Amino acid sequence: MDLNRLTIHELQKKIRAGDVSSTDIVRDVFSRIDAVEKDVHAFITVMRDEALSGASRADADIKAGDIKTLTGIPVALKDILCTRGFPTTCGSRILYNYIPPYDATVVEKLKEAGAVFVGKTNMDEFAMGSSTETSCFGITRNPWDLERIPGGSSGGSAASVAADECIASIGSDTGGSIRQPAALCGVVGLKPTYGRVSRFGLIAFASSLDQIGPFTKDVEDCAIMMGVLAGYDPKESTSVPMDVPDYREHLSRGIEGWTVGIPREYFIEGIDPEVMKAIQDAIKVVEGLGARCVEISLPHTKYCLAVYYIIAPAEASSNLARYDGVKYGFRSHDGSDLLEMYKKTRSEGFGAEVKRRIMIGTYALSSGYYDAYYKKASQVRALIKRDFEEAFKQCDVILTPTTPTPAFKIGEKTNDPLQMYLSDIFTISTNLAGIPGISVPCGFTAAGLPVGVQFLAGHFEEGKLIQIASAYEKSANFEKRRPNL
Ligand code: GLN
Repeated sequence: MDLNRLTIHELQKKIRAGDVSSTDIVRDVFSRIDAVEKDVHAFITVMRDEALSGASRADADIKAGDIKTLTGIPVALKDILCTRGFPTTCGSRILYNYIPPYDATVVEKLKEAGAVFVGKTNMDEFAMGSSTETSCFGITRNPWDLERIPGGSSGGSAASVAADECIASIGSDTGGSIRQPAALCGVVGLKPTYGRVSRFGLIAFASSLDQIGPFTKDVEDCAIMMGVLAGYDPKESTSVPMDVPDYREHLSRGIEGWTVGIPREYFIEGIDPEVMKAIQDAIKVVEGLGARCVEISLPHTKYCLAVYYIIAPAEASSNLARYDGVKYGFRSHDGSDLLEMYKKTRSEGFGAEVKRRIMIGTYALSSGYYDAYYKKASQVRALIKRDFEEAFKQCDVILTPTTPTPAFKIGEKTNDPLQMYLSDIFTISTNLAGIPGISVPCGFTAAGLPVGVQFLAGHFEEGKLIQIASAYEKSANFEKRRPNL
């Protein structure tokens, strides 16, 4: 039996019925990794021994009747999450040898829920990118077409789920890095509300935008994972002390009578016609479920990309100042004095895209330019947020394409940063506004590439996202299709 193809909820049933052990599942997942990882390269670190001993512990718990939400389930972690005793590289040479002395809060929570970790997944360096091509550990390939990128920056997390190299995975999303790769790899990805999930132990990229969220094979698993990940953490000052609802209760409620907003600014020239067709079909499905789709406007949409590419690099330039060759990670031994050592460490340790962001960010924050760039961007950000507040007075959720195109070819956009940045045109606004968003598979192109539809809701309304995504998934039925690897 291909246990690796099953979902969390399917495996939970089998474990509870005593049909399979965690060791069976983990072994099966590793046989899949052995078969496809050489082609996909979703992982930076594979944690085989850790996973097998985790599986034995899970099996002992199962025998003792102590079965938790994720007991015995193989999960992969983006290599931006600190894991005690295991390398955490952020896809960067500057952290190639960094082994954190502590676990991220989400890692702790997953452990407490009984999850078994299979490895750390590949990503764009410091999560800056949309294709997983800037990792210093090599590229990840899209399981649906090995000549194409899996999306990014959490490309390894998305590809590992799509290729059945794990049952679910964790990513981070600063401007689309969960939803965009989820769409391009044909899996479900959710970016929670800013403050919903603790980021303690998440290596910071842009602190006012970063969120952690799950990649799963279907919406029910997304609800299960959110129940584990969400919640207040006294160690993280932006996490919000609010109860975590049982997201599974939203799975079968339906959306009869809902109003779904279709923002006119998201249906622009340049969208791939096959993506457009899939989204239009999705709108029809949603209407068929008893919802009313209405055109809405988010008038400041055209500024999102510009605002993001001031705010994110500004915050990154500050967050990345700590990598100096002294405190941890890589150090260049060429420097003759301290300043030389700093300079050499940073020039040799960071890749080109990270350096580009540090330079943009430092410039935007420098005296004399701060008001013109960072302050202005923050003001426009407030308008973007207000657009959504106004929109949610008229509708329950918003529906958009997740990405303007399906997965592009490896190397196609590496020499054109602006083209690369445009792949997040539909996902960035969510992070600027702090609201949650989910991407769900909504079809395939003629060449067999997955397309994703994005649903957005107001702050802390992840339940609504799960509700519409689940209703949609049940009538659309794309989640069982698998790449031919
Ligand atoms: N692609 C965007 C960027 O490069 C978003 C990345 C992310 O969400 N981490 O900044």
